[in-house]
Amino acid sequence: MQKRSRDDGRSLLDFIDCIDVACPRCGHHALVRMERRQGTGIVTSPPARLSCHHCGLIRTQRRDKTSMWRYSLRADGRDPYFGIQLWLQEPTRHGLVFAYNEAHLQVLETFVGAELRERNASRAIRWNNRSMASRLPRWMKRAQNRDEMLATLARLRARLKTAQP
Ligand SMILES: [Zn+2]
Repeated sequence: MQKRSRDDGRSLLDFIDCIDVACPRCGHHALVRMERRQGTGIVTSPPARLSCHHCGLIRTQRRDKTSMWRYSLRADGRDPYFGIQLWLQEPTRHGLVFAYNEAHLQVLETFVGAELRERNASRAIRWNNRSMASRLPRWMKRAQNRDEMLATLARLRARLKTAQP
């Protein structure tokens, strides 16, 4: 039986609420969180906050919506708010494999491991070409690279386990 993976239309923006990064000061695991403000009635961009449990570093930053969208599309292994190195990234001979967090990694594992991919035709989810899955580089989707990609993702998952404080 073939494994299936549905492209549920989620974009990278759906994975940036909490990002695993390498602390720019001590190099240990740190988190960048989007902080949502509610009830103001004004559409404000959520500030992001970097916090490191190891050395106590805290940084807060605010970005406007436009730049956040632009920055979210970067594929250089850095977070979209501060440009800090992601905790989950590994270069391959094809290009950089990276994940913002476990949820993102999970989707990549499912997608790369699937033998049959299909876009969700449901009207409930409006598909658009900005979905994370549709934007994955071709080399990541190639069948002949699947084993290599899965091995890389497995190493990222192992690295995720070392991130627990
Ligand atoms: Zn630190």
